[in-house]
Amino acid sequence: MSLEALRAELTGLELRDDDATRATYGHDESDQGDFRPELVVFPKDTAEVQRVVRACNRHRVPLTPVAARTGKSGGSLPIHGGVSLSLERMNQILAIRPEDLTATVQPGVVLADFQRAVEAVGLFYPPDPNSAPTCSLGGNIAENAGGPSALKYGVTRDYVLGLEWVLPDGELVRVGRQTVKGVAGYDLVGLFVGSEGTLGIATEITVKLLPRPPVVMTALIAFTDVLAAARAVNAVLLGGLLPRCLELLDDVALAAVAGKGVPFPAGAGAVIIAEIDGTTEEGVFAELNLLASIASKHGGLDAQIAVDRDQRERLWATRRLVSPALRELQKYKFSEDIVVPRSKVPEAIERFKAIGQALGLTVATYGHAGDGNLHTNVLYRSPADRPRVELALEQLMKETVRLGGTLSGEHGIGIAKKKYLSLEQSDQLIALQRRLKVLFDPFGLLNPGKVFPDESKEQ
Ligand SMILES: Cc1cc2nc3c(=O)[nH]c(=O)nc-3n(C[C@H](O)[C@H](O)[C@H](O)COP(=O)(O)OP(=O)(O)OC[C@H]3O[C@@H](n4cnc5c(N)ncnc54)[C@H](O)[C@@H]3O)c2cc1C
Repeated sequence: MSLEALRAELTGLELRDDDATRATYGHDESDQGDFRPELVVFPKDTAEVQRVVRACNRHRVPLTPVAARTGKSGGSLPIHGGVSLSLERMNQILAIRPEDLTATVQPGVVLADFQRAVEAVGLFYPPDPNSAPTCSLGGNIAENAGGPSALKYGVTRDYVLGLEWVLPDGELVRVGRQTVKGVAGYDLVGLFVGSEGTLGIATEITVKLLPRPPVVMTALIAFTDVLAAARAVNAVLLGGLLPRCLELLDDVALAAVAGKGVPFPAGAGAVIIAEIDGTTEEGVFAELNLLASIASKHGGLDAQIAVDRDQRERLWATRRLVSPALRELQKYKFSEDIVVPRSKVPEAIERFKAIGQALGLTVATYGHAGDGNLHTNVLYRSPADRPRVELALEQLMKETVRLGGTLSGEHGIGIAKKKYLSLEQSDQLIALQRRLKVLFDPFGLLNPGKVFPDESKEQ
């Protein structure tokens, strides 16, 4: 690898290789370790992205796209060194078209900024990962991000219409379309969204928007234990309601945020946060009351309704605190995002707690229970506990697959879960995907070492 020759080719671009920058880009929110790039490049436009990709190809230097580094599967970590390509400077909202219900953005736009901009013109972009104040649309595209409102509105892939995309050899293509419907050719947008930075780089993103629902109400419903809460989630959906969100927090998650945000009712061993939106106050209030009465028939103790924006924001701020607050309970954690069929959520929670207990580890479960997507966190106090934690994670993944589930609902496989992929997918399917990767990236330079199990080792 010739970094010096590469640098010479990239004259005029913003390049950094100081220790502080390399350290910053060497980690993300996945706790997967420290993997520093040799060089970080900050292109300001698509042409500069193409220059970097072409130069890395010529000099056979590994290249890893990186956005806001909130990823939880290690996708942005340059595990083979080389160049990190930061999309942060490409952060412009290029167009919001209310009459078409679409918008076009650069990949470095922070999600919360985009949400605010579309809401200001009466529109709504539903994908809402809890990292919205910091994560970017480029990272959301690469991971096919979800969030609480995926229950009613779906995930990022459901909103992406078209992409300007730099292929791993530096060629530029436009895939997809500007219209809401369209079936011309293969669905390459569907392939690229969720490709975890391994099949190319998004330099422009066109998404569809919805009219903003004018009324939103949120309820906090307490339960004595997490299994009752999980069963109530299913009862609500079977009761004919489709809330915007049905989030669940177990006893460990509640203990983590206690005293930090909204107070939870005394005696609560779990809570559900349920949110309903619609067009009239009466309609939304009636649906929320129906939801609360279904919950109370299934063990719901108490329902508090947040009606104004401030109350709702305080509740969601507390929900967003869960992930960092768990780390304060014990210094280390692995945060999973498995999905099981909805009917299996109570069984999954029970099994995961039992796995933790058998190994002497604390397991917290919270998250998007309404669509079966659980953030199961294994907490631990010291690196010496790692072998037990690894065992717990493997058992957790096996249990997920046994229940008919999938390893990742929204964080991606990255490096965190690649060794488990073959629990869920056949060798034949993994081989087919490897061939697809080679077709796009014959030298294996774009975000190498991600998604698929290492071939050299039995994993
Ligand atoms: C507190 C917290 C809460 C979270 N909650 C959620 C949640 O509710 N739902 C959810 O889905 N996720 C959640 N996440 C995970 C994370 O925020 C998402 O995966 C997010 O989409 C990552 O975006 P990013 O901009 O930080 O990307 P990064 O972490 O920087 O990168 C993620 C991946 O995208 C690739 N990439 C980056 N930019 C591009 C580009 N332009 N083109 C191609 N590939 C690119 C990178 O190579 C990497 O593989 C949470 C994270 C935290 C810390």
